[in-house]
Formats: sequence, structure tokens, C-alpha cells
Amino acid sequence: MQTIAHFIGGQSVVGPDDGRSPVYNPATGEQQSEVALASSATVDQVVENSVRAGLAWAQSSLSTRTEVLFQFRALVASHAQELAEVIASEHGKVLADGLGEVARGLENVEFACGLGEHLKGAFAHEVATGVDVTSLKAPLGVVVGITPFNFPVMVPLWMAANAIACGNAFILKPSEKDPSASLLLAELWEKAGLPAGVFNVVHGDAQAVEQLVAHNDVAAISFVGSTPVAKHLYETGTRHGKRVQALGGAKNHMVVLADADLDLAADAAVSAAFGSSGERCMAISVVVCVEPVGDALVEAIASRTEKLVVGPASDPLAQMGPLISSEHRDFVTQLVSDAANSGAKLRVDGRSCTVANSEGGYFFGPTVVDGVTTQMGVYEREVFGPVLCIVRVNTFDEAVSLINANPYGNGTAIFTRDGGAARSFVSGVNVGMVGVNVPIPVPVASFSFGGWKDSLFGSHHMYGPDGFSFFTRTKVTTTRWPDPATSSVDLGFPRTR
Ligand code: NAD
Repeated sequence: MQTIAHFIGGQSVVGPDDGRSPVYNPATGEQQSEVALASSATVDQVVENSVRAGLAWAQSSLSTRTEVLFQFRALVASHAQELAEVIASEHGKVLADGLGEVARGLENVEFACGLGEHLKGAFAHEVATGVDVTSLKAPLGVVVGITPFNFPVMVPLWMAANAIACGNAFILKPSEKDPSASLLLAELWEKAGLPAGVFNVVHGDAQAVEQLVAHNDVAAISFVGSTPVAKHLYETGTRHGKRVQALGGAKNHMVVLADADLDLAADAAVSAAFGSSGERCMAISVVVCVEPVGDALVEAIASRTEKLVVGPASDPLAQMGPLISSEHRDFVTQLVSDAANSGAKLRVDGRSCTVANSEGGYFFGPTVVDGVTTQMGVYEREVFGPVLCIVRVNTFDEAVSLINANPYGNGTAIFTRDGGAARSFVSGVNVGMVGVNVPIPVPVASFSFGGWKDSLFGSHHMYGPDGFSFFTRTKVTTTRWPDPATSSVDLGFPRTR
């Protein structure tokens, strides 16, 4: 059985005391490899290497960094198919979806290619007589990215491209469920000319993460994953004096007003709920029908849902792959069954989905649950599966209140042809990313990505301008070239006039 190794200082490494964790093919349910889980010694090794490499990289010229970033951009683009295939083999998402993931990750590399512009400081001439001030953006040192299973290429690129552009050494701790894509990224960084040790991959579980988050030589933690882990790592990291941004889970509502084009809204709801089997933090998991839109909209959603093709990535007709694990499938099944037992109506029921020749795979068919109430587990929990809840309300204000009462605040959307209602919605919802007739409003890379409330802990959103701000610290220099003849002792606090 192949052991997936760490990538430390340009070398493939497995430590003598490392543990192991099985890696499955979710479309067949078979174990295909095992991944090394870093021991304490391996974590120390990756940090030590990164400190050394980071010191040299911080001194590299901006033109050198730009050249590496441009090379890396070209390599990711030319290896997009290979990356999508690696994602498919361990995550299970279909190839078109994997290619979409790579394309959205690539955007972040393109943004980082403009580092010469993003790292410009400021200069103010003559702030006081004969005094000038400059500010510059300095790298932090060693920064760590801890990433979830659902975007094994895009989320690492959200972090690594900007962190490296800013002159830091980057340690990626990918999900142990689909670790291989991170090694392909490492190979591409190396081919792009990035010095060894600036981009490292260390595999591991909670123990390795805890050690990284508390390590004296780690300056910052960028985390994306579930809310309980995000909150815990934010608290632990900040207690150890680190800069931390920790993005958590979500429950994204899509509101449909009576004036909306129902076919367009149904297409959007089905695409956003079931793409990647609902395993996206920006997936729509609740459609809020503002009556009298409910019956017609549910009908339009259900008829589209029944036609979706579920299957492995190797099937070119498949639109939706399996879930990540059998445990997760059991969790989703339980929530749907509990909802049905509590009076919800399973308009489309995906619990007994099987796929020919892939009987061992973790498939769960797309499911539409009507009549959901806020007390049901399927509404309260982040399902992270292909389950679309329908909640019916009578007014626009009720829809906004429902969203604002939810502990999560990642994404939301409104479907309407009324510009005034859309504007009120954008102002009124306590959510970080809002779509108007756009169901998955993931910002482009020149903006930043982040939710509110329990969807993000920390003050910086991810990537874009916030990424450059998160991965640098400001140094302000005040300069004066005085005439020694005018010098005297003056114990007063320096004034600027
Ligand atoms: P997860 O929280 O289980 O794992 C994320 C990372 O943390 C992994 O690398 C994992 O090894 C590590 N980890 C897991 N448990 C840990 C613990 N107790 N202590 C320390 N580290 C731990 O998340 P997941 O299941 O891989 O991913 C799905 C979750 O990620 C969903 O909740 C989804 O909404 C969220 N997500 C959020 C965003 C966002 O931008 N807000 C994006 C993608 C995914």
C-alpha cells in the first residue's frame, strides 16, 4: 500500500514515529493508499526547515517572486486536468467540478502575480519640517495553512499564493482525507523555481495541528474547516500570540420573492444545492419561499432534481459524485430520516441511491425536503450533503429575520426582479457574502472571501486584499536629516509642527 509522504525542504519525508491514516476512493469505498500522520518530531522538522527557507525568501526581490508566481500560474493551468483527476480520485467530485475548483484557485495565483502593486507601501513627504515617513509591508515569517477536504486545491491556493508572494514560508496541513493534491501543488511550486522549503506539506491529524498552532516559530495560522475546529484554533492560536484567521461552516439561505423568474430560480437552487454533492461551504442548503411562490417553485426544483445523474467521476454523464465517507453518509441519512419522522415531506428522497458498478461508493442522491421548520436537525445542523431544505414564509421581513437568527453568516442570495427589495436585502442581512440573482456569491480573487458570525473567527477575510494584509505586518519609518548645527537637547514629546 502506497504511503503518502510529507514534502519538507524539497524532500519527500516520512518520519520514523509518524502514524498512518487510510485514504479511500469514495466512489468505490475501497482504501487506495495511506497517508503519514506527522509525529511531534516531524512537525518540528517542517517548522525548522521553513524558518531557514523563510529567512532567505523574505530577502528575495519582488521581481524574483513575481517570476516564480507567473511560472506557477502557467504550471497550474497546464496541469489543471491532472489536478482535477487527483481531486476526483480522493474527494469524488466529478471532473467538470474539479476543473472549476482549479480555475477558481488559479484566480488567486493571478492576483498574487500583481504582488509588486499589492506590496507597495506609502510615503509622505515633509510630515513635519524636514521629516518624511514611509511604510512598508514586511513578511511574518513562517505561516501555516490548515485546509478542509472539500477543496483540496482551491483553498490551499487561497492561502499559499498570497503568503508566498508576501515573502513568507508556507506550511500546508491539508485534510488527511484527500492529501495527494497538495503534493502535486508542491511539485508545481518546485518546478516554478520556488526555493526548497518555502512551500511545505505536512500531513497530520488534530495532534499535529495543535502542535503547529502553539509552535513558537509559527507566526500566523490560516484555517478553513468546520466551525467547532475554527473556533477552537482561533482561541488556541491567539492565546499563543499568533495572528489567526479561521473560517468555519455555513448554512446558506436563498430567498425567492414572488416576482422572481421561477425557472431561473429553480435552475440556480438545484445547481447551488447539489453541485459537489452539497459539500461546499457556499452551497445553498435552504430555499426560503416567500409565499405564494412555494408550490410552483418546489415543483420546478423537484422536477429538475429528479433528472440529476449521480455517479463516479469516471462516468462522463455524472453530474454529482459520492460523499466523502460512509460516516458522513450515515450522518446525512439520519438527519433526513429525522426530518421525515418530524413531519417534513421528502419531495425527492435520495437515501436509497445506488450506482451500478459502484455499489460500495458513498453515494447519496439529491434530496428535497419540504415543510422544514427551524427546530429540525436538518435545518439546525450544517448537513454538508445534497439535501435542500424548503422553508416557507409569508413576508420579506420574515425571510430576513430567519437568516439573521441563524448562527452562521457565510453566504446568502435573493432572487427577485425588484431592485429596491434586493437593495434592502443586501443592507439587512448579517451575512458576509450576498448574491443578487447569484446563488453562490464567491467573490473573485481581487475581493476577499469571508463570512460573518460563526462562519469566521478573526478580523481578516481570506485572499484578495485582506490576504496581503493578513500575511504582512507594517513597518513605519520616520526619517530626518537634520543640520547638526541646529541640534539641541529637548525633553518635550516630539511635536510635528
Ligand atoms: P474539519 O474541520 O473536520 O477539518 C479541517 C481541517 O482541520 C483538516 O485539515 C483537519 O485535519 C483539521 N482538523 C480536524 N479536526 C481537528 C481538530 N479537532 N483539531 C485540529 N485540527 C482538526 O473540516 P472538513 O470536514 O475537512 O471540511 C468541511 C467543513 O469545512 C465544513 O464545515 C465546511 O463548511 C467548512 N468549509 C468552510 C469554508 C469557508 O470558507 N468558510 C470553505 C470550505 C469548507
